[in-house]
Amino acid sequence: MNDPAVELPFYYGSISRSDAEEQLKLGGMADGLFLLRKCLRSLGGYVLSLVWNLQFHHYPVEKQMNGTFCVSGGKAHCGPAELCEYYSKDADGLVCTLKKPCLRSPDTPIRPGVFDNLRDNMFREYVRQTWNLEGEAMEQAIINQAPQLEKLIATSAHEKMTWFHAKISRQESERRLYSGVQPDGKFLVRQKDDSGTFALSLMYGKTVYHYQIQLDKSGKYYMPEGTKFDTVWQLVEYLKMKPDGLVTVLRDPCVNRNNAANATPNVPAARRHGNGYTPPPQAAAMELRKNSETHLENRRPMPMDTSEFTSPYDDPEELKEKKLFLKREQLMIDEVELGSGNFGSVKKGVYKMRKKHVDVAIKVLKSENEKGVKDEMMREAEIMHQLDNPYIVRMIGLCQAESLMLVMEMASAGPLNKFLSSKKDQVSVENVVELMHQVSLGMLYLEQKNFVHRDLAARNVLLVNQHYAKISDFGLSKALGADDNYYKARSAGKWPLKWYAPECINFHKFSSKSDVWSFGVTMWEAFSYGGKPYKKMKGPEVMSFIESGSRMESPSGCPETMYTLMLDCWTLKHEERPCFAKVEERMRLFYYSISKKSPPPASPAEVAAPVID
Ligand code: ADP
Ligand code: MG
Repeated sequence: MNDPAVELPFYYGSISRSDAEEQLKLGGMADGLFLLRKCLRSLGGYVLSLVWNLQFHHYPVEKQMNGTFCVSGGKAHCGPAELCEYYSKDADGLVCTLKKPCLRSPDTPIRPGVFDNLRDNMFREYVRQTWNLEGEAMEQAIINQAPQLEKLIATSAHEKMTWFHAKISRQESERRLYSGVQPDGKFLVRQKDDSGTFALSLMYGKTVYHYQIQLDKSGKYYMPEGTKFDTVWQLVEYLKMKPDGLVTVLRDPCVNRNNAANATPNVPAARRHGNGYTPPPQAAAMELRKNSETHLENRRPMPMDTSEFTSPYDDPEELKEKKLFLKREQLMIDEVELGSGNFGSVKKGVYKMRKKHVDVAIKVLKSENEKGVKDEMMREAEIMHQLDNPYIVRMIGLCQAESLMLVMEMASAGPLNKFLSSKKDQVSVENVVELMHQVSLGMLYLEQKNFVHRDLAARNVLLVNQHYAKISDFGLSKALGADDNYYKARSAGKWPLKWYAPECINFHKFSSKSDVWSFGVTMWEAFSYGGKPYKKMKGPEVMSFIESGSRMESPSGCPETMYTLMLDCWTLKHEERPCFAKVEERMRLFYYSISKKSPPPASPAEVAAPVID
């Protein structure tokens, strides 16, 4: 999570555009003179500032969800160094190639951003409180959840800033600003209501002015007609440099005493261990759970608490013995049937590994004679073999014995639709949002790896427990080629038409975008607690229903924001439909806006009541 650009001698950190131009002037303004700086608007991004013909050109470099970097519309690169190297050989859309780095002088340190000083502590504090982890287990959790976690932490970082006064009224903000000295530019930010909007209150000429901070559909913050930012604190930092329509730039924060304590950096918890001993992840988590259970009675189970969160092969000693084909002696098959299909049945079992025994689900092929079915299962295994994500059912291996068997991790609470319809009273809407967010994380992983699922539906989302979902059933899935963004089926098969986007049915074209359509239908099933989509309609009727512009109604009790997302997943044209990177972000923002987070023990900050719109 460290800034990958710090090693570059032409990287200046969080400097403004005009500072960058100043540096380039000092550097001599030769054609191709360039420097790199941190983008002050988007998270994890940079700006490449370049001179050509005595003019400045600034190119934003975006950090994408899969961790790569690109100049808008350009090729993806694995890091800022690789990106700059590439553009030093090929202009590829820039005014010229990068010719001469504008080197940072030794007495100019890389300028840190406000968030840089806070990030590490916030990460650890968040993981410690929400997941109750410490030490190695916490580090592991941080690695597994990045970059999702980084974004989440960054979007709530304003809560730690001295100028943030949480939910106070307009009158109270004026009282606080008028108390003490009243210089121009004294300011504070307050939360307006539970919808996540904010207001800026600013002193000028001994008068307080109030501005609304707007939030657009994609989750970006802006002043009316102003520049858009990923986070509130980036907006504030920008307004310290430029008035952007305000009466004055922001200067002195009106300090919220509750937040002032947070401004002094804490020693990161990981360093406090400091004795050279780091407990193994599971043991550390268990230890903490034991300790915390006494005072956190209602703590709900988190995915990371389960053995299914990481692969059994994460243990290097088990990995040493990993083979695609498992030995029959190590597999114990129970008579209990978990489910069945035309391939055969799925049975419960235990797989004996070197150090531990793991619960498994075994897909047993019915008849060896039907070659087609066997090939299908081999293809499913081939796909699953390439996937490893906490929100996807992992394959442990294949076993060829009395019949061909596909051995998978066990998700013992079964399919999502059945679980929800039988436990309607025990599962809150927040819980459904939590599970569907996890499904979006699994789908985001598939999108990034260029796999299409083609059978995403509530019946194929399996639960490890009430708070942990995994995507399963890769029987129809395909790996796309590096240059393809869709799979073309030669002929239609036994397809789940009610889950399929129009382009699948009409043109046999399958992409991550058509999986997004199915995700929308899966959301509908989840929020209707296992309801059957499109009621009594038959497949072909559904097609004309969709093409006439109709869509399913919102399930009763479904939050408005979630229904809006479903409708966006059901955008007719796949080009205009959101991708999983967007869908996951929207699920996450909504989930965190409604989920109860326990307040930090030392901070008296208000705890917002969970609100569902
Ligand atoms: P099909 O292609 O026939 O839909 P699935 O892979 O969806 O096959 O499996 C059928 C059923 O078997 C599921 O609905 C579920 O009840 C059970 N099942 C499959 N995999 C698992 C698993 N990993 N853990 C628990 N149950 C499973
Ligand atoms: Mg299935």
